[in-house]
Amino acid sequence: MICFDKVSKRYATGQEALSGLTLNLDAGEMAFLTGHSGAGKSTVLKLVMLMERPSQGQLLINGKNLGRLHRSQIPYYRRNVGVVFQNHQLLFDRTVFDNVALPLLVSGYQPREVGRRVRAALDKVGLLDKEKQNPITLSGGEQQRVGIARAVVHKPRILLADEPTGNLDPELSSEIMNLFRDFGEVGVTVLIATHDIDLISRMGLRVLQLQQGRLASDERPVHVG
Ligand code: ADP
Repeated sequence: MICFDKVSKRYATGQEALSGLTLNLDAGEMAFLTGHSGAGKSTVLKLVMLMERPSQGQLLINGKNLGRLHRSQIPYYRRNVGVVFQNHQLLFDRTVFDNVALPLLVSGYQPREVGRRVRAALDKVGLLDKEKQNPITLSGGEQQRVGIARAVVHKPRILLADEPTGNLDPELSSEIMNLFRDFGEVGVTVLIATHDIDLISRMGLRVLQLQQGRLASDERPVHVG
């Protein structure tokens, strides 16, 4: 589903963020992306979101070469990629419902379809009863779940997360990770950039470790029995 083929990324400043990176994630696979600050994690996510383009190499998503995607197709491509941020970037001057509805309104969905999809997404994250509240009245974990609902409201095939548990305690972090796992089980490919070593060791998932823009290790969980 996500296939980096010898991808290098050099920013306009001359900084090389990725060097000949090759990695593959299958549909429905879930993995952590880890490494020190500056290792290239965010750059990997930005390339998949099409916020940046590779300087060299190819990026194939669901078999399609992103380098060949026409500018006019970018908004449609982006609907297949949901993104969850650490600070969840919610708008505190509108309701939970309106926050989750935002990507659909931007895409021009009809109000009825918006209502149906927003409620389905809120139901998945267990917040259907909070739709009329302002996110400021919710706990940190609940706010992050609103961020996840907004990321999946388009029913994306890929879910990316950048330090999604950064501000949460271990129990809430596990709760959020279990939600991601649920999406993985229905075929969504999930890639989570994180520094959280405890979380990584608890979850037993594939771990891709970056070091100075290269893949330093790729460890898959060992299943016993
Ligand atoms: P990480 O997410 O692992 O901290 P990044 O992908 O953000 O790493 O950064 C990798 C390298 O690329 C770093 O040296 C960073 O300073 C540099 N970098 C990231 N974004 C930009 C940018 N927009 N312009 C120039 N350099 C950048």
